[in-house]
Amino acid sequence: MNNDARAAILAISLVIPLSIFILWSSENNNVTGFSEKRQLKVLASFYPLYEFTKIVGGERIDVSIIIPPGIEPHEWEPTIQDLQKMQSADMIVINGVDFEPWITKLVSVNHDILILDTSNGIPLLEKDKHVFNNKIQNDPHIWLDPVLAKKQIQNIANGLIKIDPQNADYYQENANAYTTKLILLDNKIRNDLSVCLKKDFLAFHDAFSYFAKEYDLNQNTIIGINPSEEPTAVTLQQIVQKAQNLDLHIIFTEEAVNPRVSEVIADEIGGKVLTLSPIEIHEKNSNYIKRMEQNLLNLKEELCS
Ligand SMILES: [Zn+2]
Repeated sequence: MNNDARAAILAISLVIPLSIFILWSSENNNVTGFSEKRQLKVLASFYPLYEFTKIVGGERIDVSIIIPPGIEPHEWEPTIQDLQKMQSADMIVINGVDFEPWITKLVSVNHDILILDTSNGIPLLEKDKHVFNNKIQNDPHIWLDPVLAKKQIQNIANGLIKIDPQNADYYQENANAYTTKLILLDNKIRNDLSVCLKKDFLAFHDAFSYFAKEYDLNQNTIIGINPSEEPTAVTLQQIVQKAQNLDLHIIFTEEAVNPRVSEVIADEIGGKVLTLSPIEIHEKNSNYIKRMEQNLLNLKEELCS
């Protein structure tokens, strides 16, 4: 081998590893930079949890809703595409209390995603007359009690802190700020209702058990736990009778149901139809607290009149 050839080999053996090193280290820098800025990908099952998660996660997370906005969540089932989409998330926020029975399908294919059950630590109420596979079922509508919603907010903060401990203070501050708003809402509901003489109201579906327990009210309902049910003629007659016995004047309906059922009952008793929202679907230009305040105003028409 002549000197020129030896020099060429030496040059190649030096240059190639060096260029690989430069490439590797610049790629590696990019990866590091990306992970510092990367937002966590979080999915929330349905509307109120989407809003709660967005508030706690703020700019650190990219949150999407699983059940499409406007779809009533009680009977929703994911498609294969929905399940595939869920697998790329860092964390999935669910209400829990069997409100998302489909989550077991995801758990069976992917054990690694953090599935955050916001009902952790919340004392549950049994569903009225609902037994499935010999097991008494619990009522899922915890988010409609602001006192329990505070616990859901803290659970979401705990979940985010678990997967992103570097930003623990940020998540906890966001949770604390919103908890203050929930405390104000709770105080307002308590104060406003304290002057009302009546306790009974007629909700459309069985969504206000926790709310009624918290504020010492009696929930009556047109239908059971699922708003898609249709009441029979006999049930309607019984409800009219009940409304008359309890001296009710407001028959409540919901955003996602046909108001006709409530209108028929209201006509029979000479009453009026108003909305009492279970806050299960998204409403444009509104939020959880505004909707709870509107619910309070509408409830007061029944309870304080
Ligand atoms: Zn419901």
